[in-house]
Amino acid sequence: MTDAAALPGQPRGGVLSGAATARAYCVLAPNPSAMTLDGTNTWIVAEPDSDLAVVIDPGPLDDSHLKAVVETAERAGRRVALTLLTHGHPDHAEGAARFAELTRTPVRALDPALRLGDEGLAAGDVITTGGLELRVVPTPGHTADSLSFHLPADAAVLTGDTILGRGTTVVAHPDGRLGDYLDSLRLLRSLTVDDGVTTVLPGHGPVLNDAQGAVEFYLAHRAKRLAQVETAVEAGHRTAADVVAHVYADVDRSLWPAAELSVRAQLDYLGEHGLV
Ligand SMILES: [Zn+2]
Repeated sequence: MTDAAALPGQPRGGVLSGAATARAYCVLAPNPSAMTLDGTNTWIVAEPDSDLAVVIDPGPLDDSHLKAVVETAERAGRRVALTLLTHGHPDHAEGAARFAELTRTPVRALDPALRLGDEGLAAGDVITTGGLELRVVPTPGHTADSLSFHLPADAAVLTGDTILGRGTTVVAHPDGRLGDYLDSLRLLRSLTVDDGVTTVLPGHGPVLNDAQGAVEFYLAHRAKRLAQVETAVEAGHRTAADVVAHVYADVDRSLWPAAELSVRAQLDYLGEHGLV
C-alpha cells in the first residue's frame, strides 16, 4: 500500500521478476494498482546449495500466481518448506492459506490470526531452513503486525510494505502508528549502518541497492510531511480531509484516501507530542 509514485531525489532500483541477490528470487504477482505499484513481490529465498526454500508473502488469492511460485521453486530444484508473512494486508497474505494447501507448509506471521501451524513469529526469532538464515526484525508502523526479514548472507533486508521500491508507504491509521513507524525506520537504518545491509527487497516495486539512502530518504520524507501537516493545522486546516487537500495537493487524487490514513496517523502523533 503506497501513497505516491516515484518521488524526486529517491534512490532508484532495478529488477522486478527474477533473481535479486544470490538467495532471493522475486515472482511478481499480477495485481498492479495505484496502491500496489507493479504488483506484490512474492519472494523465494533459499541457500544456493539447498533443496529447501522459504516463501515470503504469497500475495493475493490468485491460483495461477501461487502455482507459478511453486513451479519457480521446483524448477530451481527446491521444495517450499515454509511460508512467512510480512503483515496481514490481503495483497500480501490473502493467498497464504491456499499456498499452504498447495505446498503443505506452515504459515508463520506475527498476528496469530494469520498463522497456520504451531509456530508464530516474534522479534529476534531466527529462521533456519536448509541452512538459510533469516532474522525477524519487528517493524511496526505501516501496520501493527509489520515485520522485516534480515538476510545477512546477502546483506539484504526484506521489508514488506515498510520500505517500498518506489514512492513511500502508508501509515495505515489507526492500526499503523507514526511513532512506531519512525522507530522502525531508525531500526532499519541501524541495520544498514551497523550490520552492513546494502539491499532492500521490498514488498512492491524494484529492488533498492542503496539501503541506507532509501531509509534516509524515508526519514526525511516523513519529517517533511509532518512539518507540512503541522503548518497546515496551525493555518486552521483541522480535519484530516482538509489537511490532505492542502498537503497532498501534489499527489494524484486516487491516492488521497490512503494519504488521509497517513494524515490521521500524523495528527495523532502531533497531538501525542503536544505539537498541535
Ligand atoms: Zn500493506
